[in-house]
Amino acid sequence: MKKLAAGNWKMNGTAASLAEVQALLAAHPAPKCEMLLCPPATLLAQMAWAAKGSVLAVGGQDCHAKASGAHTGDISAAMLKDAGAAYVILGHSERRADHGETDAQVRAKAEAALAAGLVAVVCVGETEAQRDAGTTLDVIDSQLAGSVPEATAATLVVAYEPVWAIGTGRTPTLAEIAEVHAFLRARLTDRFGADAAGVRLLYGGSVKPSNAAEIFGLPNVDGALVGGASLKAADFGAIVAAL
Ligand code: 13P
Repeated sequence: MKKLAAGNWKMNGTAASLAEVQALLAAHPAPKCEMLLCPPATLLAQMAWAAKGSVLAVGGQDCHAKASGAHTGDISAAMLKDAGAAYVILGHSERRADHGETDAQVRAKAEAALAAGLVAVVCVGETEAQRDAGTTLDVIDSQLAGSVPEATAATLVVAYEPVWAIGTGRTPTLAEIAEVHAFLRARLTDRFGADAAGVRLLYGGSVKPSNAAEIFGLPNVDGALVGGASLKAADFGAIVAAL
């Protein structure tokens, strides 16, 4: 399985930021892992153009569950694909929190993504209160059951992002990450059988050059979903090099 270094630019970046993509590709023309950047939708087509013929894939950060129609401000999976996306992040905790997205809605979006030929990157993760209450695995179990569509290893990526680790500089211990990732693999195996061995499981939440190698050394960690550190070519490149 090829590991995946994925960057989520969130609501950051303008055309000038594409210089970071050029710098990233110049420094890492042939990395061992697959590279993915998910810019805001306004930059998707331009970034896809800049990445054409390179090892960099681009992806969206969300899509609508419907293929088209009267949904002002929304973007369909087919539109992402048409703009050059190969992936789409779904169910990120910021969308779950900011837009009240439920597991069922995330699953419907993921089904739309698969129907459009995109790889779905489905995000799960507990809040700090849930971790403190000892319910982390229960929360992840129900998010997984509710959000993950019927899929194959080639069309599904699952990202574990503890909400309290996002943008905070704090991360779970290595043992805590390994525990959740082993749980994800076991649950996906219950559902998908042997194919689940090929589903890439990403860790996300304050991944940076200084902690990437130790996190990537853990079993069942097949890459990272990187926020802040994906905005700068030097930082993201260092994470890519650690995979
Ligand atoms: P940070 O890497 O900025 O903590 O963000 C993680 C994230 O939410 C990626 O989707």
